[in-house]
Amino acid sequence: MSSLETTSEAVAVLRRVFGYDAFRGEQEAIVEHIIGGGDALVLMPTGGGKSLCYQVPALVRPGTGVVVSPLIALMQDQVDALLAQGVRAGFLNSTQDFGQRRAVETAFLAGELDLLYLAPERLRVESTVNLLDRGKVSLFAIDEAHCVSQWGHDFRPDYLGLSDLHERWPTVPRIALTATATSRTRTEIAQRLNLGEARHFVASFDRPNIQYRIVPKNSPTRQLLDLLRTEHAGDSGIVYCLTRSSVDKTAEFLVQNGIAAVPYHAGLDAATRAANQARFLREEGLVVVATIAFGMGIDKPDVRFVAHLDLPKSVEGYYQETGRAGRDGLPSTAWLAYGLQDVVQQRKLIDGSDGDAAHRRQAGRQLDAMLALCETVECRRVQLLNYFGEQAAPCGNCDTCLAPPESWDGTIAAQKLLSTVYRLQHERRQKFGAGQVIDILLGRTTAKVTQFGHDSLTVFGIGTELSESEWRGVVRQLLAQGLLTVEGDYGTLVLTDASAEVLGRRREVRLRREPKREPRAAKATKA
Ligand code: ADP
Ligand code: ZN
Repeated sequence: MSSLETTSEAVAVLRRVFGYDAFRGEQEAIVEHIIGGGDALVLMPTGGGKSLCYQVPALVRPGTGVVVSPLIALMQDQVDALLAQGVRAGFLNSTQDFGQRRAVETAFLAGELDLLYLAPERLRVESTVNLLDRGKVSLFAIDEAHCVSQWGHDFRPDYLGLSDLHERWPTVPRIALTATATSRTRTEIAQRLNLGEARHFVASFDRPNIQYRIVPKNSPTRQLLDLLRTEHAGDSGIVYCLTRSSVDKTAEFLVQNGIAAVPYHAGLDAATRAANQARFLREEGLVVVATIAFGMGIDKPDVRFVAHLDLPKSVEGYYQETGRAGRDGLPSTAWLAYGLQDVVQQRKLIDGSDGDAAHRRQAGRQLDAMLALCETVECRRVQLLNYFGEQAAPCGNCDTCLAPPESWDGTIAAQKLLSTVYRLQHERRQKFGAGQVIDILLGRTTAKVTQFGHDSLTVFGIGTELSESEWRGVVRQLLAQGLLTVEGDYGTLVLTDASAEVLGRRREVRLRREPKREPRAAKATKA
């Protein structure tokens, strides 16, 4: 088939089956490449339209397109949606009984399936591999391909087994798709999935309709309630929290304050989780409060906001989670409240994780990049897109663009703080966190200050020109700039190699002054 014929056949399927007029962005080139038998690695943001990239070729090429997906809970919905469009689709996973599985297998062998969805662990089972051998496979689509990345937060060991697909079925084209996008992840996916020859299709990751805002965390649930009441009354949205208990508490708090909210985390029983997810998909104006266990593969177009009450572990995770807002292209908010305690907590998680030293270093770097995003004085979008290797101009629609933070010369403040940390670091047994350091700077004679004789240190009371919250801001920013670090269960502040440059007056420190008021979406002012 010539590429012209391929295209016209693909467009015909797009119109007839899916009811769309034209391909979007790179879809056409990808579809053509797969129909022609090539391998592809597709990177597109959430909502970019990845599904059609394999669904259309599966309908054009003879045989069944096999889709590997970790989203077992969504397979039924995905297949139902395809059946409703007249696509012959089925799935095989652990939720089915023998009879259901048998029916799907029979349809596949009879050549009566366009698409077959499989959980990755199915491909480890010899009987499934034999089944695929006996039928005709038109392509393999590996969805959520970043699950193969051992550094990532969605790692699924079964994805590693997918590296053999090519040896087993050398003539069947493979397409791997993901919304996770740094070049490091991309290289890792290509390597682990044996996609050395694959063509890479990288779409822009910009989501212009999402307004990014990162605010200092004071009383997070109050701040959240304020956001929902003033800007997102009656809207659907997702609130991410780090722990199950904060998910439960936050959901309860919202309900008590008249907001329709449900919790979602791995500690709830499967039926409750499924029911809450289904409500979110079907109802309007429901808020799901969740751990990051929620959201992958969920296609709800009108999610108006994604709020984070705790700091995400990485920019990649943050971008993927916020990307669930505004798939319909309408204005949406990505709002994150972040504080010093988040840094302490994340470092603690990293220090206590069971990965090896390299893994911990990697996690530390990812956290640093996230902190740098939080403390930037530049456009958030510029920072985000740079992280994914894209250049961009200031967007005019994020908090730092709307209310540019002033920066100030924080060298003296940094020196005062770092020398206090230095003094405390030299006390033998006791370890001190930010609270004690700030009390000393402010000259407060608290019980703990007197107990350790810190009121007789030369640094006692040398920092009264700043308020407590300003000092907390200084600590956060020094952490973000790598001029300070935190260790251990109590968030002990510790100097870094770079601290010496500041203490030795060889380095200036620019700090960001927090805007007095949070910039708001200009909803009501639209003419
Ligand atoms: P992703 O998997 O990349 O998050 P989806 O494949 O779920 O994105 O597509 C997101 C939305 O965009 C879906 O509602 C889909 O129907 C729609 N869409 C995708 N491609 C097109 C197109 N060419 N024309 C119109 N709508 C499209
Ligand atoms: Zn901006």
